Amino acid sequence: MEHIALITAALLGLCIGSFLNVCIYRVPLKKSVCKPARSYCPKCNTTLSALDNIPVFSWLLLGAKCRYCKERISGEYPLVELLTGGAAVASYLHFGITLTAVLIFLFTATLIVISFIDFHHKIIPNVISFPGMVIGLCLGIFSQFTGLLQSPLTQSALDSLLGFLIGAGLFYSIAYGYYFFTKRHGMGMGDVKLMGVIGAVLGWQSIYPTVIVGSCAGGVFGLLIMLLAGGNGKSEIPYGPWLSLGAIIYIFFDIPFFRLVVV
Ligand SMILES: [Zn+2]
Repeated sequence: MEHIALITAALLGLCIGSFLNVCIYRVPLKKSVCKPARSYCPKCNTTLSALDNIPVFSWLLLGAKCRYCKERISGEYPLVELLTGGAAVASYLHFGITLTAVLIFLFTATLIVISFIDFHHKIIPNVISFPGMVIGLCLGIFSQFTGLLQSPLTQSALDSLLGFLIGAGLFYSIAYGYYFFTKRHGMGMGDVKLMGVIGAVLGWQSIYPTVIVGSCAGGVFGLLIMLLAGGNGKSEIPYGPWLSLGAIIYIFFDIPFFRLVVV
């Protein structure tokens, strides 16, 4: 039984990952994620058959090329599918077959979409972050009155509201301060809204671990890029993927360091 649940979670995760690829490609272009329902090759526009659309396997079988025009298909497609499959398995293993597992998985899937869009376009679309903030705040109320949600999801309306205010407020201050002193935009409003979403969904307790882990990972990555590309320190690094990574590590790893300020 346990194995069946695990395999179901993995397969479901892979298929949803395939849909996330559609979102990552279409949302920044302001195209519908539902119509057309079937994926198509961005080069030759041929609608892909179901056989060409199986997560990860189709990519491997076709040798990372479009069947029709032989255009190279990026390894990002199977990567997103594998990450989403991994998120589904991790959610099941951590939280069992519960509402918390489903919500954590959906939240992680949203962070995957935000990360890849931010990485490519250096934006975090409002069409994702605004509903994310509202849903997060509603989760706080739901959690408080039903007691149905497990930690690390927000446990009360106040936790959620404080998470939203501290997360967005902190990043707004940093963005404003940076602009005030340098007259350059270092941090986008997208990151401010993303921290609002993370704080609302996971509560104020998540802000400190997310920011610390996100800043360290993003800082190391930025330094590597600067060393490799010989940049002048002005190269723009998307921050969304690193904040998302910080939130995901906070969710799935119980590191004592995270509890320094959380009693
Ligand atoms: Zn093609």
